[in-house]
Amino acid sequence: MESKITKIETYIVRDKLSQSFYFSQWKYSERCICLVKITDNNGNYGWGEGYGPAEVLEVGIKLLKPIIIGENPMNNEVIWSKMYRKTLDFARKGVLVASISAIDIAIMDLKGKTLGLPVSNLIGGAHRKKVQPYATGMYFSDLKNPSKNYQKEAEKYINMGFKAIKMKVGLGVKQDFHNVKLMREIIGNDIMLMIDSNHAYEYNEALSLSKKIEQFDISWFEEPLSPEYYEQYAELRKNTIIPIAGGECEYLRFGFLQLLKSKSLDILQPDICSCGGITEAKRIAALATSYGVPIVPHTWGSGIGIHVALQFIANLESIPGRLVEAPFLLEYDQTENRIRDYLTIPKIEIKNGEIQIPTNPGLGVDVDERFLYDFSGSDEIDIKKVVV
Ligand SMILES: [Mg+2]
Repeated sequence: MESKITKIETYIVRDKLSQSFYFSQWKYSERCICLVKITDNNGNYGWGEGYGPAEVLEVGIKLLKPIIIGENPMNNEVIWSKMYRKTLDFARKGVLVASISAIDIAIMDLKGKTLGLPVSNLIGGAHRKKVQPYATGMYFSDLKNPSKNYQKEAEKYINMGFKAIKMKVGLGVKQDFHNVKLMREIIGNDIMLMIDSNHAYEYNEALSLSKKIEQFDISWFEEPLSPEYYEQYAELRKNTIIPIAGGECEYLRFGFLQLLKSKSLDILQPDICSCGGITEAKRIAALATSYGVPIVPHTWGSGIGIHVALQFIANLESIPGRLVEAPFLLEYDQTENRIRDYLTIPKIEIKNGEIQIPTNPGLGVDVDERFLYDFSGSDEIDIKKVVV
């Protein structure tokens, strides 16, 4: 029977952290994610996830629900266009685009599961079978002594097989210099090191920090400046040898076109769970190749978000190609997050520093609904009993 979407369910999944941590902007004490499940008349279903404030995202999904019910999930671009038209007048950037993204991802998962094909096939095929994860960590557990746990944490990542680590900066140029120098000493010269300030700096501060740390072989400086300052990003790029990365606060092909035209970035980092979903990320990737700018997607969520990135990276075109391809990187957050670790099955495995891209239908994962009910606050299952 022709597939028709019959049901859209949202889940706010919340988990308190055992220990809060900081980055340059604020403190994290919990992880909270909005998920969406879309089911069709044949009983097939797909899962999606949005990146952004979960409660607001959920409202956006509710707003879009009436125009999705009854649609055929095979027509993901047509559905995407309807959602875009519904929100264009009010939200060309921001959380409503993340709501569109969550729905689009669930539709692509459903489409893949219905056709028995992985999402990488739906968007044109997998250029590669594996990615190299990099560890996102090195947040500040103690603002008075931010480098307190660096040694222990870095060793943990290296023992897990990571060959690249991204650390947080944004505490001031002097403190950052001290921390980056220390980190390079701890990990030696063979591990890639990236830094991320989460747009903590004014231009002169970002330039000063860049010049001071060029000696430490930094693979990229992520969000040195406010995402609003396209020209300042371009100026910074001209004045440092450190590649400049960003894009997690950007939306839609139109926003990314502006970043590309302004020559703001060496590396584009769309978050597929907020930039417009898989359907739009594919268009952003086409734009990026037109400008010769590589993509390393931003990920910060559950196993759904990570699998979205895996399928997308599988399909990323490399121009120019070469016999021995440079590794394609996957952002793999390592901060405390039980939603990321337990929500989806099968689990993600790192082997010899690499992650195999799943070839199962859809996103290649399913949601373990027992955990879902735990984390979304239901009393049905005792959280400790299930999680431990
Ligand atoms: Mg970042």
